[in-house]
Amino acid sequence: MALERTFSIIKPDATRRNLTGKIIAKFEEGGLRVVASRRIHMTRRQAESFYGVHRERPFFGELVDFMISGPVVVQVLEGENAIARNREIMGATDPSKADAGTIRAEFAESIGENSVHGSDAPETARQEIAHFFSEADIVG
Ligand code: ATP
Ligand code: MG
Repeated sequence: MALERTFSIIKPDATRRNLTGKIIAKFEEGGLRVVASRRIHMTRRQAESFYGVHRERPFFGELVDFMISGPVVVQVLEGENAIARNREIMGATDPSKADAGTIRAEFAESIGENSVHGSDAPETARQEIAHFFSEADIVG
C-alpha cells in the first residue's frame, strides 16, 4: 500500500451548518490525516475553473453558484490509498445512494449540495492540490 495525498473541499452547505469539525472527524476516524487546511471563499472564476470538466453539464451554473454561496475549507488529506479511501469515507455523489456512515449519507442535503469534494485520480489530486497549496503549506 502506498502513502498518498488527495485534495478535499468541505462545501458551503456544510460550513453553513457548522459541520466542519464533524466532517474532519470522519476523515481522521477513517485513517486520513489533515496535512494542509485553509478556509476560503472561492471566486466565480476559481469555481468555474475547478469544475471546468462539468462545463457542458446542465447543472454547471447551479454548481458554480452553490460553490461560491459561502466559505469552503480546502484541505490536503494524507494516508494509505488516500484517494480511494477518501471517496469511501465521502460516499456516493447522490446521498440517497451513499452507504450508511459515510459523510454524504449523514450530512449531504442533495446530489448537488453534497457537503464534500474529493479528487478522483492521482493526476487530478496532484493538479487540485497544486491549485490551492504550495509544498511549503503541506506539513505531513
Ligand atoms: P466531487 O467532484 O464534488 O467530489 P463526485 O466526484 O462524487 O463529486 P461529480 O460527477 O464529479 O461527482 O460531480 C461534481 C459535483 O457536481 C457533485 O459533487 C455535485 O455537487 C454536482 N453534481 C453532480 N451531479 C449532479 C446533478 N445531477 N445535479 C446537480 N448537481 C450535480
Ligand atoms: Mg468529481
